[in-house]
Amino acid sequence: MNIVCSIKEMQAFSESIRNRGQKIAFVPTMGYFHDGHLSLMREGRRHSDCLVISIYVNPTQFGPNEDFEKYPRDFERDKGLAEGVGVDVIFYPEDKEMYPENYQTYVNVEKVTQNLCGISRPGHFQGVTTVCAKLFNIVKPHYAIFGNKDFQQLVAIKRMVQDLDMDLEVIGMTIVRESDGLAMSSRNVYLKQNERESALSLSRSLKLAKQMYDKEERDALTILEEVKKFIEGHPFSRIDYAKICDTKTLQDIDCLDGESVLLLAVKINKTRLIDNYVFGDALNI
Ligand code: AMP
Repeated sequence: MNIVCSIKEMQAFSESIRNRGQKIAFVPTMGYFHDGHLSLMREGRRHSDCLVISIYVNPTQFGPNEDFEKYPRDFERDKGLAEGVGVDVIFYPEDKEMYPENYQTYVNVEKVTQNLCGISRPGHFQGVTTVCAKLFNIVKPHYAIFGNKDFQQLVAIKRMVQDLDMDLEVIGMTIVRESDGLAMSSRNVYLKQNERESALSLSRSLKLAKQMYDKEERDALTILEEVKKFIEGHPFSRIDYAKICDTKTLQDIDCLDGESVLLLAVKINKTRLIDNYVFGDALNI
């Protein structure tokens, strides 16, 4: 497994793979791996001759009062885990490599980034789409694998790839959960024991919503009322948003008669967690 920190070196490597007619799969990450990350890598391995991942805590997607500085990092541990799932290259750039002095170009996906996290994290998606556009130009993948856990991010990336005619396929993967249902996240390490218990309100409320849907409830407000009441009944929990949206436009909907998704962002004390459920899908909680 190779560690590459230079953009030029990464581009030259990818070019040589492509010239041999081989396929590159790419998994962009911010590191501090859990099984969710590893599931994307395993999927990438299945699709490709060459599996590239990136580890980069991208400063442009964090707001001024967010956790950029304290975001968990452990490169040595990540390296071992990546090697274990057969990663060929870790692209591991420094900030000055990605955003040198006088950097001034940003990618902005419009409508689908406006609702949900677009309201509570202004500028976040511009940072995400910009860094992904850069990473795609650096790694030149045939396939890019993302998790459904960051549902709005996945919709925005797919939109960008389509709108800017990027020559790659975006693949979305199921949410990997702890055995008690908590969606895996690098940020779960922030949770103290009693907060961890409260954090289960997210996945459990998704299950509640699924049960209502399975009993033919189709009114979004009725489902959301129950979901919010359930989450708010847990200590330390403050709802940032709980919304039911159309899976493609990410606009709020009143009636679940098309493809719809319940999206949650909840702060457990200072830790902001997200989770979601696409109605009609399986939910292993
Ligand atoms: P991050 O390092 O948090 O930026 O995540 C890197 C990739 O892993 C993104 O595509 C995420 O959606 C995905 N991911 C994060 N958590 C999970 C999870 N629990 N299950 C599946 N994919 C995940």
